[in-house]
Amino acid sequence: MRHERAIREVGPCPLVDGFGRTATYLRLSVTDRCDLRCTYCMSENMTFLPRREILDLEELERLSRIFIARGVRKIRITGGEPLVRKNIMTLFAMLGAHLETGALDELTLTTNGTLLDRYAEALFAHGVRRVNVSLDTLDPERYRAITRWGRIERVFAGIEAAQAAGLRVKINAVAMRGAFEQEVDEMIRFTHARGMDLTLIEEMPLGDGQHDRRESFLSLLKFRETLSKNWTLEPLAVSSGGPARYVRVAETGGLLGFITPLSCDFCATCNRLRVSATGDLFTCMGNEGRVGLRDALRVSDDDRPVDALISRAVAMKPEGTPFRLQTTTLMASHGRCRSLEDEMLIVALTVSDRASRANMKTKAAP
Ligand code: SAM
Ligand code: SF4
Repeated sequence: MRHERAIREVGPCPLVDGFGRTATYLRLSVTDRCDLRCTYCMSENMTFLPRREILDLEELERLSRIFIARGVRKIRITGGEPLVRKNIMTLFAMLGAHLETGALDELTLTTNGTLLDRYAEALFAHGVRRVNVSLDTLDPERYRAITRWGRIERVFAGIEAAQAAGLRVKINAVAMRGAFEQEVDEMIRFTHARGMDLTLIEEMPLGDGQHDRRESFLSLLKFRETLSKNWTLEPLAVSSGGPARYVRVAETGGLLGFITPLSCDFCATCNRLRVSATGDLFTCMGNEGRVGLRDALRVSDDDRPVDALISRAVAMKPEGTPFRLQTTTLMASHGRCRSLEDEMLIVALTVSDRASRANMKTKAAP
């Protein structure tokens, strides 16, 4: 590509935003489809996008290459469920080649794990070393209820195969009020006994999930205090650079992460970009602002117009998410009629539906 030649000649120009943050991490959604229908994420009857609207594998690779040329060092493949995408290992093979040249430091995957047993070895062969598996419960019935029809044995088989192939597995669980609170101690024991870290994610107003978030929302700020009655939680000095804040559980030696988007204290160091399966670039997890890259990709082989769009989008990256900005305002003006926790929940629930729909396209996971 002409553009790549130009970059080789003058050196890469990093993606620095208006607040001095450099984007080095790309979450790339490869499909809007999924074999499950988690209640907090999708409705039961989803209408997925026509295939022509989704970037093909070559387009996904080309776009990744453009980002890598601008200094992206880590790519996480996500969805929808990335492993349902036909021939997805071809993309991993193409991206894995950038690991070999040293242009990319890490290639990772977030998956629901149902197809992981089929792909674990191939993922390892293409250079993947860590995967995040989403699992909100250890109970088969509850798993089925949350995912609407998922079989938890598939996920257990996937985790086992991943570990056997040499992949490091982290479990992500969306924290919910009720049964989850009763089960979390067992999840900590289960994951840590198998050498897996566990990250708890606060439910966000994303996607097409149709359940009542007022019923399910569990504040992790509060829940962490509850957990500390049963476990010795030792804060880690070093942050992962991402949205999770980790503690070491002294009793197990394993790590426990908390992703609390409402407090969003990670915005100041955010190095992330997201691209949806349709080629829309989102520079912030909670903002609907996006820049479409697909048309520029399809209209010509010249990468420069795509590159220019990326530069413009990154320059406009917001300082923080609307969750954070509204929460900060609330913190400042907090009255007595509701608890701060309730106020924060209302922020979560009322952040615009349009933002939710925009996020749905990438299934913006933390
Ligand atoms: N299908 C894959 C999976 O489930 O891991 C990848 C995409 S999924 C959207 C990525 C992550 O987002 C999962 O860990 C999922 O639990 C989380 N997620 C989905 N909807 C969410 C929501 N409304 N709030 C918080 N996390 C959510
Ligand atoms: Fe599918 Fe992942 Fe959404 Fe569950 S969270 S419905 S597995 S995309």
